[in-house]
Amino acid sequence: MSERKRKAPSAAKKPDAKQQKLPPMKEEKAAGAGGWLQEVVKQQRTDNKMMGLNKKRLRFISDTKKVKQGSEGVLYWMSRDHRVQDNWALVHAQQLAVKENLPLHVCFCLHVPKSELSTLRHYSFMLKGLQEVAQECRTLDIQFHLLHGSAGDVLPGFVSDRSLGAVVADFCPLREPLKSLEDVKKKLVSPSSVDAHNIVPCWVTSPKLEYAARTIRGKITKLLPEFLTDFPPVEKHPYTATRTAKPVDWNKTLASMEVDRAVGETEWAKPGTKAGMAMLESFIDVRLKLFDTLRNDPNAVALSQLSPWIRFGHVSAQQVALQVQRGGKKAGVSVSSFIEELVVRRELTDNFCFYNQKYDCVEGAYEWAQKTLKDHAKDKRQYIYTCEQLEKAKTHDKLWNGAQYQMVTEGKMHGFLRMYWAKKILEWTPSPEEALSTALYLNDRYELDGQDPNGFVGCMWSICGIHDQGWAERPIFGKIRYMNYKGCLRKFDVARFEQKYCPKNL
Ligand SMILES: Cc1cc2nc3c(=O)[nH]c(=O)nc-3n(C[C@H](O)[C@H](O)[C@H](O)COP(=O)(O)OP(=O)(O)OC[C@H]3O[C@@H](n4cnc5c(N)ncnc54)[C@H](O)[C@@H]3O)c2cc1C
Repeated sequence: MSERKRKAPSAAKKPDAKQQKLPPMKEEKAAGAGGWLQEVVKQQRTDNKMMGLNKKRLRFISDTKKVKQGSEGVLYWMSRDHRVQDNWALVHAQQLAVKENLPLHVCFCLHVPKSELSTLRHYSFMLKGLQEVAQECRTLDIQFHLLHGSAGDVLPGFVSDRSLGAVVADFCPLREPLKSLEDVKKKLVSPSSVDAHNIVPCWVTSPKLEYAARTIRGKITKLLPEFLTDFPPVEKHPYTATRTAKPVDWNKTLASMEVDRAVGETEWAKPGTKAGMAMLESFIDVRLKLFDTLRNDPNAVALSQLSPWIRFGHVSAQQVALQVQRGGKKAGVSVSSFIEELVVRRELTDNFCFYNQKYDCVEGAYEWAQKTLKDHAKDKRQYIYTCEQLEKAKTHDKLWNGAQYQMVTEGKMHGFLRMYWAKKILEWTPSPEEALSTALYLNDRYELDGQDPNGFVGCMWSICGIHDQGWAERPIFGKIRYMNYKGCLRKFDVARFEQKYCPKNL
């Protein structure tokens, strides 16, 4: 989880208890989840038992490439992708351990930074997902260790204490995980990193910052035949560890974590791979055929709703893409529209964060965008709201308030409204810098899928025009693409959305 100690801009207070106690809105039922998908996928993995890792997914991060002789096991240091199956990092760690006749260990370093972004919503989802990982590891004779502390503090000691001979890490393009890996790599034996999150490894897709979806699309598409493959199963490990992992009291761990409990768990999204696969199944069965035509209608239930499971790595985007292509034969053009979002748009966000160190500030935008925002920074704003007013959904705009309220209470917002929501923050705050930090703070505190490259890029696209082009110049926005309430009225039944999501007593 993010180490960022992001502060609410200005003197914003957390929403008061009264707001938090408002009843959650009812969620549409995820229809059709009959349980066929898990069995199909299991069989497909077994059919691909002999498949090895494409070595391009792997990066050695020190000069030592071999497993240390005389060691007692291989370790997969799980950090971004919290699942057992469909995980190239774990597949690689197991294949390495089998080759060396060694036991296999998985560890996760649990560290809760003191931050408004450390909420019960995120940590409960994460921890319950890890509990499922630990259970599956047990059935496969893989030792799962929950380590308490940051990787820098606890990982090197653990590796040397257990005499582990190689460490396989996840890949994440955000600065804290990259720094964490950089800090510990010198103290680890034979460390390597596998991109288990992207279909095409981030560094293979492109060695540089891509300008827009149009510049990365061809590169990814060309590589899909090589990388969009089936997975082999992670199997029962043939070598048992003599020193087993300490059992974890999951309830106690969750109860003792110092997280902000005002931002509670969500009802609609159950954590873990099983729940994520059930959501995928219901998408293929029910919603996929509607995706192309209704994806911009916040009243329609046409999206996959998979972002939290993809964000925490409970579900592999690669497995999602394979199953949608296979199961969506009757869904026509919806399949390609969905793949555009899931593959091109999503993998573009990792590219942006990996190659642009200023991925979360206005200086990270293109020069034309920085200039136009600066030219209009002092333009008169008709409405100015503090972060606290925005957080409590107290604006003049019922559509915006409804979207914000749904995010605070349910941990989600429809993709179309996210754009409108962020652009209005630009319009209603004193400067683009404040708009961006407010949007990121709210997004990352309340969205269950927040604190992810998709969120940084979503806010940067909306407010700073990244991956977009210049539009007709207008006040405040300059050449940044504008969205307004009237435009929403033309696109969908705004009144219906407001009635459903904007409580009268706000
Ligand atoms: C201001 C703003 C903030 C955003 N914050 C986040 C965030 O914190 N976390 C997050 O995961 N997404 C974020 N997005 C991107 C997108 O809105 C969500 O991924 C999407 O709405 C999630 O719903 P879904 O899973 O039903 O998506 P679907 O439309 O079903 O798409 C499937 C998957 O593709 C990916 N995806 C979809 N749209 C995008 C996109 N525009 N860019 C990158 N990947 C995409 C997601 O992984 C998603 O789960 C943000 C967008 C904007 C404009």
